[in-house]
Amino acid sequence: MSLCEYTTQKDIRIGSRLLGTLKWGIFAVVLLYMCVILLTEKRYQKKDSIISSVHTKVKGVSDADSRIWDTAEYTIPSPGGSSFFVLTNIIKTENQKEGNCPEFPIPKTICSQDDSCKKGYADPQSNGIQTGKCVQFNSTFKTCEVRAWCPVEFKSTPEPAILGSAENFTVLIKNNIHFAAFNYTTKNILPEYNVTCVYNKATAPLCPIFRLGDILKEAGENFSQVAILGGIMGIEIHWKCNLDRWFHSCHPQYSFRRLDDKVVDERLYPGLNFRFARYYKNQDQTNLRTLIKAYGIRFDIQVYGTGGKFSWFELVMFIGSYLSYFGLATVVIDFLISLYCQSCCSATSGQRYYDERKYEEIPGPCVLTSCQELMFVSFVDQEDIKMVDKKLRKSLQMTIGKIIKRGKMTDNMVLAQLELSSFDGLEELPLYPRSSRKSSAIPSWCQCLKCLPATRFEGQLCCRYQNGECITNSEMFRKLVLQKQALVHILQYNNPLLNRHSITKKQLAECAQKQYVQWRFGSNMDILDFARIPNCCKHEIDNMFNGETCETSLEHADKETKMQSTSAPSSKPLLKQPPL
Ligand code: ZN
Ligand code: ZN
Repeated sequence: MSLCEYTTQKDIRIGSRLLGTLKWGIFAVVLLYMCVILLTEKRYQKKDSIISSVHTKVKGVSDADSRIWDTAEYTIPSPGGSSFFVLTNIIKTENQKEGNCPEFPIPKTICSQDDSCKKGYADPQSNGIQTGKCVQFNSTFKTCEVRAWCPVEFKSTPEPAILGSAENFTVLIKNNIHFAAFNYTTKNILPEYNVTCVYNKATAPLCPIFRLGDILKEAGENFSQVAILGGIMGIEIHWKCNLDRWFHSCHPQYSFRRLDDKVVDERLYPGLNFRFARYYKNQDQTNLRTLIKAYGIRFDIQVYGTGGKFSWFELVMFIGSYLSYFGLATVVIDFLISLYCQSCCSATSGQRYYDERKYEEIPGPCVLTSCQELMFVSFVDQEDIKMVDKKLRKSLQMTIGKIIKRGKMTDNMVLAQLELSSFDGLEELPLYPRSSRKSSAIPSWCQCLKCLPATRFEGQLCCRYQNGECITNSEMFRKLVLQKQALVHILQYNNPLLNRHSITKKQLAECAQKQYVQWRFGSNMDILDFARIPNCCKHEIDNMFNGETCETSLEHADKETKMQSTSAPSSKPLLKQPPL
């Protein structure tokens, strides 16, 4: 392989209106699809993901549980910033003090006598450590006594929620975003922002102030329902930014949904709650506390999105990746053609013609077994050529090979035939009868009775597949392969400046072998190098050109030519080769 070489593919052009239309149809569909994807998905843009920061501010005042609730009471800020908590319901247990008191009645703690309670036992769900006594909780239940903060919490959630009016609270969400790849920063609060606006999907979709009740409504929830046990809501801010100068747009889109599972079993702690206590000291310096179980809604803000800007690199990459789809046309059409040719065993002449022109058949190489020498064999009594590519374990004649079609004649052969016509009758070469040798001297693999024994398997090849007349006995063999005049002309045809007196016997013998190969193997140029000449033919050629000196033979040839130009063709045989 040289640096100054370029290889390209050779194609076959099929004149067919149907296939041509199909090809352009597929091209058009692919092109259309490519354009649609390119424009709708903006595949010509380089994309970058968002970097964001969120800050929230909840506002609102409520009068509930005979007191005023303001921001400091009902919101619990989260240090993360991207979420906030709004209290909606509480269970308050005031004036708790360390001591012994009856446990709250649940199936596990209800008892009838002291034996049911275990001293020192603490259930993970209980309020304290059991003392081992069973005491009266109220007029109906007796429960185990515990050492705990007394009195224990009364486990019943108020309904409706104490802070149900929190649905009128508002939250301001400040969201700054940045695309590092484009060094672009923006925020969700626009310059024309109006402090009194309230978000509405239809009328004010860009207002960053949200009414809590509206958030739940957008998510398909009922605020007063969720407020009782609490829950988790998601506020999603989706940024889809087109940073191209000519189509610049970068605005947030808000959407809301509930994140916790609202349909849960009672045992799996539905909603969202936690406890906290406020401590103080009594006049007698004993520690007291107010326990608060807080239910509320946590709002998680999730910001996501991408920004894109035109990039030549992305455009070229996209076109490059989609070019391969144009190959779809080839796949589809080749499939149709293969369907058409499927019935080629019983094919019409048209199908057979197409099949022969489109496909060049070669046998598969011996990939798995180690590749031995490649040999091609042609028998005079067989139409096709045999290919052998395995190690010979018996004579080449007997080795089974793959069958290949014979090609057509080459120009050299045509030339030789032209030569033949001009020399016709010049060299009357005798036809030799089949060998009269003793049958014991003829090797077992020989079918023509003219081969000589050979030691190597490679050399054990006859001109025939089945018993019959030898090819060397044919007039054609003598005229095409052995006729010196024709060989000299062929050598000169190939090398016009070749001096006919300097032609050696070896050149003639090689030319004769080539003649034989081209004659018998056709135009498959790749085959010619590996073609094997049968034993009988090889001996005939050797005897012809190694038996006498080249000079004399050429002089003969010269004489013959002169005679031909002046007088009638001589009947004197040029070749005096005795039969074997
Ligand atoms: Zn033979
Ligand atoms: Zn033979």
